[in-house]
Amino acid sequence: MSSNVEILPLKEWFPLDDFPLIISGPCSAESREQLLATAKEVAKIKQVKVLRAGIWKPRTRPGEFEGVGEEGLKWLFDAKRATGLMTTVEVAEPAHVELALKYGVDILWLGARTVVNPFSVQAITEALKGTHVPVMVKNPVSPDLKLWMGAIERVYNAGITKIMAIHRGFHYFNKSPFRNAPMWEIPIELKRIIPNIPIIVDPSHICGRRSLLQEISQKALDLEMDGLMIESHINPAHAKTDAAQQVNPEGLKNLIEALVIRERLGNPEFQNKLEELRTEIDKLDGEMLEILAKRMEIINEIGDYKIENDITILQMKRWAGIIEDRLSIGTNLGLGKEFLLNLLKLIHTESIKKQEERFKKNPER
Ligand code: PEP
Ligand code: MN
Repeated sequence: MSSNVEILPLKEWFPLDDFPLIISGPCSAESREQLLATAKEVAKIKQVKVLRAGIWKPRTRPGEFEGVGEEGLKWLFDAKRATGLMTTVEVAEPAHVELALKYGVDILWLGARTVVNPFSVQAITEALKGTHVPVMVKNPVSPDLKLWMGAIERVYNAGITKIMAIHRGFHYFNKSPFRNAPMWEIPIELKRIIPNIPIIVDPSHICGRRSLLQEISQKALDLEMDGLMIESHINPAHAKTDAAQQVNPEGLKNLIEALVIRERLGNPEFQNKLEELRTEIDKLDGEMLEILAKRMEIINEIGDYKIENDITILQMKRWAGIIEDRLSIGTNLGLGKEFLLNLLKLIHTESIKKQEERFKKNPER
C-alpha cells in the first residue's frame, strides 16, 4: 500500500518546545465552570498545548448526554482566551465545521464513529475546502487501516496539509483489559506509509479506565508516537461521559511527570549499532533460506530415489527419529521446544508435499 498524502511537518506549524505534546481537557464540555476550571488547571502543565472538549457527543444510544452544542463553543473560546491554549473539538457534520471555525477553534478532529463512514467523511471534507484548518483523524472503530487512510486522504484532497492521526484503539471481540485494543502494528504501518504523519495516542479511549493510562502512555512514547491526547476533568467522578477513564488535572500532571523519555532513534551512535545488528540479521536470514532451499533440493532427490525403488513417502520411524534428534540439538542451543516442534512440522509438511508432487508427475508409478 502507498499514499500520495504529503503532510506539512508538524514543526512548521506547531510549537514543539516541550516533549511530549499533550492534548487534554474533558471528554465533554458540560458547563462553563467545568470547562474553564479544567482548562486553567491543565494549562499549568507545560507540555499541555491544546485543550480538547466534546461539544457534540456521538452516543451509542439516544437519550444519553449528547453534548451542549454551540453554547459550549463560547466557553471554549473563553477558555482559550483565559489560558492561551489552542483548542480542538470533534466535528461530525459539515455544520459543525462552520460553527467551530466561527468560534475560533484551532484544530478539528474526526471521531472514530465518523471515520468508519466514507459518506460522512466526504461531506465534512467538502466543508473543509478552502479553510486550511489543521485536522486530526482518529482511527475508525474497526481495525481497518485502509478506512483510516481513506479518511486522511479525503481530508488531504480538501487542501488540508496540517494533518495528524489519533490512535484510539480498535474494537476487538476478544476479552481484553482495554476498552479498545491498541493493535500497535496498525498505527506503526500508517507511519510507514505516510512518513511525516504525526500520531497522537489517545490512552483514555484505549484504556477505558484510569489505572491503565500510565502504561499505555509510556508504551506510546516508547514506540515513538508523537504525542498524547488524555481526557481530564476537574471532577471525574461526576463526569457526564467517560467518567471511569478521565483524570483530574493533578492526576494528569503526575502521569506526565512519571513518563520516562527514552532516547529516540535520532541518536547516531544507537542508530549505527542498530543498523549493524540489522545487517547481521539480513545476512543470517539469507543463509538460513539458502540452507532451506538446499534441503528441499535433497528432498527432491530422495523423492526420485523413492519412486525408482517403489517406497512410500512417509516413513514414520525416520520422522520420529528426526524429531527426537533435532529437538535435542535445538533445545541445547537454547531454542524453545514448542517453536522447534512447529518449525520441524512446517518443514516436514513442505517436504512431503514436494515428494507427493514428484510422485504425481511420475507416470511409471
Ligand atoms: C472522544 O474523544 O471523546 C470520543 C468520542 O472519541 P472516539 O471518537 O475515539 O470514540
Ligand atoms: Mn470520551
